[in-house]
Amino acid sequence: MNSIAFIGLGHMGGPMAANLVKAGHAVRGFDLSAVSLDLARENGVATVASIGEAVSGVDLVITMLPAGTHVLSVWQELVAIVPSGTLLIDCSTIDMASARKAHALAEAHGCPALDAPVSGGTGGASAGTLTFMVGGDAGVFAGAKPVFEAMGRKIIHCGAASAGQAAKICNNMILGISMIAVGEAFVLGERLGLSHQALFDVASVSSGQCWSLTTYCPVPGPVPTSPANHDYEPGFAAALMLKDLKLSQAAAEDTGTVTPLGAGAAALYQRFADEGAGAKDFSAIIAMLREGPAA
Ligand code: NAD
Repeated sequence: MNSIAFIGLGHMGGPMAANLVKAGHAVRGFDLSAVSLDLARENGVATVASIGEAVSGVDLVITMLPAGTHVLSVWQELVAIVPSGTLLIDCSTIDMASARKAHALAEAHGCPALDAPVSGGTGGASAGTLTFMVGGDAGVFAGAKPVFEAMGRKIIHCGAASAGQAAKICNNMILGISMIAVGEAFVLGERLGLSHQALFDVASVSSGQCWSLTTYCPVPGPVPTSPANHDYEPGFAAALMLKDLKLSQAAAEDTGTVTPLGAGAAALYQRFADEGAGAKDFSAIIAMLREGPAA
């Protein structure tokens, strides 16, 4: 069992830290938000008032923060205080450039590091069923695997430093595009007089089958657990989908990659967020697709 510092105890980090405690690890947690700290304390995390207190004497540090700027600022603080050899793991979804900088910072201070973003949302974080996509040295990955297994079900080594982040960005570009594709198909089906259930019954066992249809169906009815049945409460907020699509577009630009559907999905989610719907589940974009083009 490890002694772990967990920085960033929000919607994802809070339940992830709680699962580490359940698995028998000693977890010290820090967050800027008093509410997050209170919740984490109720779940057995030993909460502290500073990053310095959190990391004193631990074997490894996990960060779960909103974006690349937060990760780099916390990691700069971390490398200045942890002994060399302390393992640093970032589970946030961040841009490729920041992920590479974080690895470089760790390397310069003699700390092994892994980027390990997750898929599975807040439900997966609570249930301990997240998928981890991990980038970094294979030996470091092998040593850290039991820690990931306390928080997730599928743990995949994607390659060298920042390969986990690359996998996350590409996966979520597929997700954003596929949700729009499924939404468009349901809207067209409605206009053709086809029932939601009939389209679902066919597409879910045919070549249109995908996660956006069978797990997160954007119309109420066919998949009772999908956010469409609960007034599109997230789930996975449209604002987070927009954030991830922007990461894909930054990576596409950096690498000279043409991603017309990724760019289109980013533009549609931008419009959806501009209309004030960023807090809704990302499947709610079907309502905007029904309305047609912006005025
Ligand atoms: P969140 O906003 O709920 O949590 C982030 C936490 O970080 C907050 O509690 C905030 O107070 C804290 N924080 C910010 N700066 C800090 C600092 N300098 N020191 C200490 N704490 C600090 O966000 P979340 O939903 O938990 O998401 C975290 C990451 O996981 C993001 O990168 C997100 O894209 C990714 N992610 C989220 C989901 C999801 O469904 N929410 C799914 C997969 C991945």
